[in-house]
Order: sequence, then C-alpha cells, then structure tokens
Amino acid sequence: MIKNFDAFKNCQLCPRNCRIDRTRGERGYCGETTQLRIAAIEAHFGEEPPISGVNGSGTVFFTGCSLRCNFCQNFQISQEGLGSAISVSEAVQKLRILMNQQQIHNINFVTPDHFFPYCVEIVQQLRNESITLPTVFNLSGYQNVQSLKMIEDYADIYLPDFKYSDSQLAQKYSHANDYPQVALTAIEEMIKQKGFLNTFFIDSKKEEIARQGVLIRHLILPGQVQNSIDALTSLFIEFGADLPISLMSQFTPIQRQKFTELNRKITSQEFNKVYEYTQNLGFKNLFVQFPAQKSESSENPLFLPDFTQNRPFKGNIKFETSHREY
Ligand code: SF4
Repeated sequence: MIKNFDAFKNCQLCPRNCRIDRTRGERGYCGETTQLRIAAIEAHFGEEPPISGVNGSGTVFFTGCSLRCNFCQNFQISQEGLGSAISVSEAVQKLRILMNQQQIHNINFVTPDHFFPYCVEIVQQLRNESITLPTVFNLSGYQNVQSLKMIEDYADIYLPDFKYSDSQLAQKYSHANDYPQVALTAIEEMIKQKGFLNTFFIDSKKEEIARQGVLIRHLILPGQVQNSIDALTSLFIEFGADLPISLMSQFTPIQRQKFTELNRKITSQEFNKVYEYTQNLGFKNLFVQFPAQKSESSENPLFLPDFTQNRPFKGNIKFETSHREY
C-alpha cells in the first residue's frame, strides 16, 4: 500500500484544494487521477551546476500540473496530458539504470506535488535498496505547508520557483491570485526544513555538488521587469542576502496561448535591468543564466523540450555561478 495514498481522497495536496476523490477516477485542476503517469525519466544537464554536475540529474517528468501557467515550456506534459502510466517499481528500475549507467548525482522530481505520495514511495523503495542519492523537489512554489511536511523526510533539496510578486499577474498567467503569499509561505517552510543550499566537492575538488537545502529560481518574463524587481525584493526582505537565487532568462515563446505579449523572448535590456538590480540588492549566492546569443534562434529554441521524442531536450540551459564575497 502506498503511504499517504488517502491524501488522494478529498484531495488537498496543493493549494487548489479541489477536494475531489482521485481514487474514484475524478480529476481536479492538475488533471490527474491516482494513476501515476510520467512523460520522461532521463539524465538532464540543464539544471544549475551543483544540481546537474557532470553526470546529470536524474529527472522524473510527471504528467499534469497544479499550476498550469499559460507560458509553460513543458505544456505537452503539464497541460496536454502527454505521458504514460507507470508503476512505482518501473520508475525505480529506470532510475536504477540511470544510476548504474550514467552515475547521476541525484533524483530530481519535476513539478510532482499532485503525485507527492508516489514520490515518497519511490524514495522509500530506493532507500530500501540502500540507494541514498540526494532527492531534488523541483517545484512551482505553489505548495501548501501540509504537503511539504508529507515529503520532509524524503526531500533533500528544494528547487522552488518564485514567479510572481504581483497577484494580478499570477491570476492572469497562472490562475492563482494567491500565488505570491502562498509561495512565500511555502519557501519559508522549505527553508525551515532544509536551510539554504549547501554543496560539497567531489572529484578532487573539481566539481561542486548539492547535498541539501533550498535554491530559489526566478524566470524573467517578457515585459514584466517590475514583477521581477518586486519578486526579488520580497525574497531579499523575507530571507536575506544569503538566500541562494537562480536568475533565469530562458523564457521561450510557445506560440500557442492567448496573451500575445508572451510571444517573444526577453530582451537583453530587460535581462540587464533585473540582473543589475539583483546584484545591487546584495544577494551573495547567485546563479545566473545569461540570455542566449542571437544565433540560437527562437524559431528553433534549444530550451523548448519535445516530450514526443526519446530525448526531449535538444540543448542544455547554461548557468554561471556568481558568488559575491563581502
Ligand atoms: S493535486 Fe490536483 S486534485 Fe489535488 S488539490 Fe491539487 S490540483 Fe486539485
């Protein structure tokens, strides 16, 4: 029996609080029943350097999503339902192969909150085999504290987004006007559980790998510099200069949604404004993804995955690490 399986009944696994019974086949906002569905399990090299390392992060891409942003780069799986039914044992077997063949550095659950009970079960089965790779929970930021407590003993690293400080924008793009406060509360809980991201060196100090803690991601959206500035200010005020931040510029238009202002990449001016502001705020531990060069055409974006392919990611997102010393 899957631990916490009853959480699927009267489901309140995320702040949508649909209160439907997924064990009876009902579907809430995330679109998923209790059937575990996964679109890909692969070694991924596009995360921040201490997460991907040289061997890659063992990413598990779940079907469905509790946030479903209009601009989602993974819309095929988050909103179009791409993915296959899989058992926990089969998922564990795929991860075992990645561990043995590619020596992945961690297990990385991508937007998994609607399947948290299965994440717990996967980690437990791995631990039963004495496999204790760090587990990464790669989250939208839209989580509730109760569900975070469910995974506390099974999570090592939290990689949450903080997307919006502007509740109107959160409503417009993610149908969640409570996102700013919900996400700040969730991040506070994550930090309480795990602290800030810490790393250790392997390979004779050549490679720094994450072991535990919280790293916050912020994706800059086209035309929304003020939202970024306010979001970063909120994070600085709430959690201070030591909070590790990952500033992302990879926004790629998916050319399929109604908000036409999202049909372009961010400009270098937009990026520079947010980057300079972030530096001036005084964050000491910054991971920065600088905008792609013009030659990397938005017509054929390397960052946009295609989950109909065996290898969904054509290119890897590159981050630079900037540690500010005082
Ligand atoms: S996990 Fe899905 S069904 Fe459950 S509350 Fe969230 S959106 Fe609703």
